[in-house]
Amino acid sequence: MKYYDKLIFELSKEGRSACTLPLPDRKLELPETLRRSSKAVLPQVSEADVVRHYTNLSQMNFGVDTGFYPLGSCTMKYNPKINEEVASLPGFRDVHPLQPGAKGYEQLYEEMDKALASITGMAHFTFLPCAGAHGELTGLMLMRSYHESRGDFKRKRIIVPDSAHGTNPASAALCGLEVVVVKSGENGLVDVESLKPLLGDDLAGIMLTNPNTLGLFERDIKAIAELVHSCGGLLYYDGANMNALMGVVRPGDMGFDILHLNLHKTFSTPHGGGGPGSGPVGVCNKLVSLLPTVRTSAFHGNAGVILKAYAYILMLGKENIAKLGKLACLNANYIKEELKDCYKLPIDTVCKHEFVFDGLEGANTLDVAKRLLDYGYHAPTIYFPLLFHQAIMIEPTETESKETLDDFIAVMRKIACEAKENPELLHSAPHNTPVSRPDETLAARQPVLKWQSQ
Ligand SMILES: *Cc1c(COP(=O)(O)O)cnc(C)c1O
Repeated sequence: MKYYDKLIFELSKEGRSACTLPLPDRKLELPETLRRSSKAVLPQVSEADVVRHYTNLSQMNFGVDTGFYPLGSCTMKYNPKINEEVASLPGFRDVHPLQPGAKGYEQLYEEMDKALASITGMAHFTFLPCAGAHGELTGLMLMRSYHESRGDFKRKRIIVPDSAHGTNPASAALCGLEVVVVKSGENGLVDVESLKPLLGDDLAGIMLTNPNTLGLFERDIKAIAELVHSCGGLLYYDGANMNALMGVVRPGDMGFDILHLNLHKTFSTPHGGGGPGSGPVGVCNKLVSLLPTVRTSAFHGNAGVILKAYAYILMLGKENIAKLGKLACLNANYIKEELKDCYKLPIDTVCKHEFVFDGLEGANTLDVAKRLLDYGYHAPTIYFPLLFHQAIMIEPTETESKETLDDFIAVMRKIACEAKENPELLHSAPHNTPVSRPDETLAARQPVLKWQSQ
């Protein structure tokens, strides 16, 4: 049995303690109403027990600082530590959002506005949204305001492709828009012919990401933009994972009117576990005057996260940012080409920052993901997008070295062999983790998140 198999309450022994408190020099008299009626149920453990318990727990975590994280559609890249240092400079850290004259922050927001505008080709940004989905909602509210500001109240429909990230239709629905799905063609791209019948004077716009969720560049984007604009609609760009484009092309130049970026993906600020994030929304010139009308968070958004992304942008500089897109694509294509003889590649073409396999022989995708944990990797995104039954979606990001990619490729090839020779090994994986296979439905529906005393 490993040390962490026990809860701290199970380590408890009556009378054991990890601390000694000085005796108070006079008796504290708490009012009766504030006093406990029974003793607090606390574990009684020694200092060594406490230290080992929490140190072991901390080592059960997995993050970009512990290993490779090939999570498709959720850019998990290296988080430079300089970002953290900059965000904790006292001049920034100790400012209250209501404090007047915070010139440093004013300058930060102005410079970030300029940097993101030049990276994306948009005119200006709002930094209020605190996540990607929050940015989507903000952007769609701006889209609605735009139509309404022109006295056009009938635009209630929004087109979303079937490969879209789940937050897209959810944000549209939350914004009171009716979601119309456009199908992808055989090649994984939006089919322009299927798009045409969906247009009309009741169309608010279209939500796209390019490259799309299959990691493919929508080559017909100019034609799509013309079609949507010609019926009075706007184009929304989901820029959560903008790695592939950085320094190569700009959504603003493709005809997009509104976009959000995830600073906590593309711009290297850490994420996971619920935040904090930042999803700034950029708009083209004709929407700039509407920016102050949509306020979706208090004060100035997540200032610390914006500061970290700013440090990242300055650290790289224009010249290196221009390399990001190319490296992100090179890394993804390298893995894809090295593995496509043992994993099914449904759309065999040059990908952008990520790609999707459709399973392999001898095991299902869940088995592969679970077996990767045994080898010390985070699992890739699986069973998404829904276009392929055994989808495995891989995004290595531009910050991984060739050696890291080679090790991952070797392990993926080994798993493919195991699937043929000893599939049971995969069905029962993972074998080396503290918990093997929980009942995932039960764990999601009735999670037990804390210990309860009787
Ligand atoms: C992660 C992601 C989102 C949502 O971002 P959150 O910060 O998790 O709300 C939206 N779209 C795409 C493509 C994403 O990858």
